[in-house]
Amino acid sequence: MPAYDPSNIFARILRGEIPNDTVLETPHTLAFRDIRPQAPVHVLVIPKGAYVSYDDFAANAPDAEIVDFHRAVARVTRDLGVDLDQGQGFRAITNAGEHGVQEVPHFHLHILGGRSMGRMVQ
Ligand code: 5GP
Repeated sequence: MPAYDPSNIFARILRGEIPNDTVLETPHTLAFRDIRPQAPVHVLVIPKGAYVSYDDFAANAPDAEIVDFHRAVARVTRDLGVDLDQGQGFRAITNAGEHGVQEVPHFHLHILGGRSMGRMVQ
């Protein structure tokens, strides 16, 4: 696992050095709109802890942070109306490392919705 780089853009957002369009904040998690949205709903959900990627987070975060993160994901889908009770669904993806083409080395889950996202494999 590469060392966590505290100068990455999401670490700077968490420190309040860069503004963001927050949709939800919980004790361990922040969700905010992507600056280059790929869909009508495009939110990034990040843990406040310093984790490089999903595998780092899943392996090393305390249970309370993992639960808080996933409950936050569910709340975001509900609050933005893309959950399956009131909306038409969403895609949740995370990119990891070079082959995943991860741009920002702080774990984040993309939540995309508001339109059909198409098949991932044609
Ligand atoms: P990745 O390729 O690492 O999975 O995705 C990084 C995402 O972060 C991209 O979708 C990009 O648009 C978004 N992003 C990069 N810089 C900023 C920023 O300063 N603010 C916000 N809100 N999103 C950003």
